[in-house]
Amino acid sequence: MRRPVIAANWKMNKKIEEAQDFLDEFIPLVWNERNVDIVIAPPFTALYTMANLLKITNIGLAAQDIFHEDKGAYTGEISPVMLTDIGCSHVIIGHSERRIYFGETNEIVNKKIRAARRHGLEVIFCIGESLSEREAGMTFDVLKRQIMEGLRDISSDGLIIAYEPVWAIGTGKTATPDQAQEAHESIRKTLSHLYGEPAKGVRILYGGSVTPENADVLMACPDVDGALVGGASLKAGSFAGIVKYNKQ
Ligand code: PEP
Repeated sequence: MRRPVIAANWKMNKKIEEAQDFLDEFIPLVWNERNVDIVIAPPFTALYTMANLLKITNIGLAAQDIFHEDKGAYTGEISPVMLTDIGCSHVIIGHSERRIYFGETNEIVNKKIRAARRHGLEVIFCIGESLSEREAGMTFDVLKRQIMEGLRDISSDGLIIAYEPVWAIGTGKTATPDQAQEAHESIRKTLSHLYGEPAKGVRILYGGSVTPENADVLMACPDVDGALVGGASLKAGSFAGIVKYNKQ
């Protein structure tokens, strides 16, 4: 049985006070959710405050990115040492916005995953195809390549993958449960080639316009083990609604 993960990606949203207000409302709504891992990824500037507020809760704290070196002359970057120091348990790596706007390649993503794992951070590794790749029938090849190159020399221990079709991110267009299941199944197949039996334990999240309204049907797919949520995670009520999806 894979334990579900529901993760929030706030992207470049929320000042410190807004993050505090969110937690004031959100924590009481989910404090007794014992059968799901909840993770929130605020912007870097809110991490320290959030770490203190989340200390005695059931909620994990993620950074949205990381640099692959521990320290040194890398202006503007944040290292894994700094993230563990501040109290992060998780880090999102390879989000499509980082690939598109900041030129992150599978090779860079691989370096970042290795660095995070060296310091015990749990990695949420994002993969997904663009609309043109889907329309060209390349979805499974793209996913396979992202996995094989992104996870080179990385073990499956504690790994979390987020399948996020780029055409569904922030667009209001969600993959149908069939499309999500089909992609997740192909991802697990690739993981089986890579890892063998342990692939069955890797949690694969779906991301792309998840809302409280569509969470139940997506989470009912056998290979969907959770969700990575952007827009709908910015309001405490709607993110709590996703965390409380129907677990029957
Ligand atoms: C995301 O960017 O990780 C995401 C899934 O965004 P949204 O839920 O807004 O589509």
